[in-house]
Order: sequence, then structure tokens, then C-alpha cells
Amino acid sequence: MIKFGPSGNCKTFYEAGYKKSVEAPKWLESVGLTAYEYSFGRGITLGDETAVELGNEARKHNIEVSIHAPYYINFANPDPDKIENSIMYVVNSLEKLKLIGGKRLVVHPASCGKLERSEALKLANNNLKLLKDRLDSLGYSEYLICLETMGKPAQIGTYKEVFEMCKISDNFIPTLDFGHINALTQGTLKTEADYRKIIDYMFKELGAEKAKKVHIHFSKIEYGSKGEIRHLTLADEKYGPEFAPLAKVLKEYDMSPVVICESSELMAHDALILKEIYSKA
Ligand SMILES: [Zn+2]
Repeated sequence: MIKFGPSGNCKTFYEAGYKKSVEAPKWLESVGLTAYEYSFGRGITLGDETAVELGNEARKHNIEVSIHAPYYINFANPDPDKIENSIMYVVNSLEKLKLIGGKRLVVHPASCGKLERSEALKLANNNLKLLKDRLDSLGYSEYLICLETMGKPAQIGTYKEVFEMCKISDNFIPTLDFGHINALTQGTLKTEADYRKIIDYMFKELGAEKAKKVHIHFSKIEYGSKGEIRHLTLADEKYGPEFAPLAKVLKEYDMSPVVICESSELMAHDALILKEIYSKA
């Protein structure tokens, strides 16, 4: 079953009188959502007790919780100490995910920094193999590492690069961030055919089992010549992309992804709109 939910807490969550993330599952169920992404983007600050409490609430209210790992992870850093740090940020995020009882950890794979793209890509792929070995040896092989497609040309993470990385482990799957893909390619995601090209390629490269359970980020994103500028809401009419043609393709391929809405401020409000569009597609 496809699942929809917000990244973080929506303006409407606070307006309804709620204050803490542990209250999110109950509220999400009451409005009709089934997923929730908790961000460690700027650091892993969630305490162990709160993680357990959040997990209990999530199970009680049928909410699938995913975690977004820190933004400063970079598997293309030439310094081995920095790679060890990145591996540990993933491991530490998974420790919290385990306490919550979730399965999916979203990771931004890498940035080029001062390296040539081909060199950065090679480093990232080699280091992701080290990550796979470490996760296997620590007993984290059942967790899904959801490698994200990125929105800026200086970042590693075109959808083709991400699919290649996902071949490293059975447990690496893509996070298809369609707002990022649209921003990176200057607004090329418009029709069903535009989406089908990516989805079809993913099925061919990764196989149906992996492709069907992909993680998805969806929001409209403002972009310029250097790609992503900022996240917008679904009300935006200038930048796109639109969800309706994607919803049709998701149904056509019989997919059951977790769809996380990353709209600015209105992520749960807009996740409900995505759900509505999907039900009508
Ligand atoms: Zn992300």
C-alpha cells in the first residue's frame, strides 16, 4: 500500500494545538495520513527515550516513520577520517531508527567539492561499499538506506547515479525527489511520459521488487541556473512539478512507495492533497 505523510511538523499541526513530535502520529492518523519523516538534517538530537515513545505512538496509530540522516554526510570526501564520520552518522541515525521501529533512512550521498565529478562519483561508490560492509557487520542489513536524488549540479545524485549506487546493496533503494530532479533539469518534469522515462529506467536497472518500494520526496521547488533554490507549497503555479501525471505512472507500475511531502510549512496539508490527487488518478 502506498503511504503519504509529511517531512516534519506542519503549520496546521501547531495550529491544531499540538507541540511535540511524539504527538505527530496521533494527529497524522486523525487527518488521514500514514507516514512521517523525522529529520536529523542539522544533527542527531532525538533522545533515546523520545525515540522509543515516538515509535510506540507510531505503532499505535499505524504511521510508518522514516528518518532523514544529517545533511553533512558526504561519501565523496577524499579524507578517510571524514568518511569514517559519515559512516558513523549513518550508524547513529540507524540506532535511533531502530528505537523507533522504522525501516527507512534517507541519505544525501555526496557532493563534488573540489573534485572532478567522475572522481567524486568513484569515491562515493567505493565508500558506499564500505558503508554496506559496516552495516552488515553491525547487524543493520535489514534497514533500507534510501539514497536521494539531489537538486544541485554540484551534488552527486542524478537519478542515474543514484540507481548505480543502489546496486551496491540489496538494502540501498532510491529516494526519488522529483522536486530535485525537476530543479536540476530546469523544469523538464511535465508529462506522464517525463515521469515514466525515470520510473521505467528504474525498473530496468533495479528490478521490480526494489523499484516498487522506492522512497519518494515530493514538493514544488524554486530553481535557478544552479538548481534548487527553495521549497515551495503545492499552491505554486510557476515552478512545478505537478503530482497528477506521476500519480498515474505510480498506479500504472503498481508501485507502493512511501511518499513524503516536503512543502514549505504546509507539508502535512499538502501530503493530503497528494493523497487526494492519487486517489483520483
Ligand atoms: Zn533530502
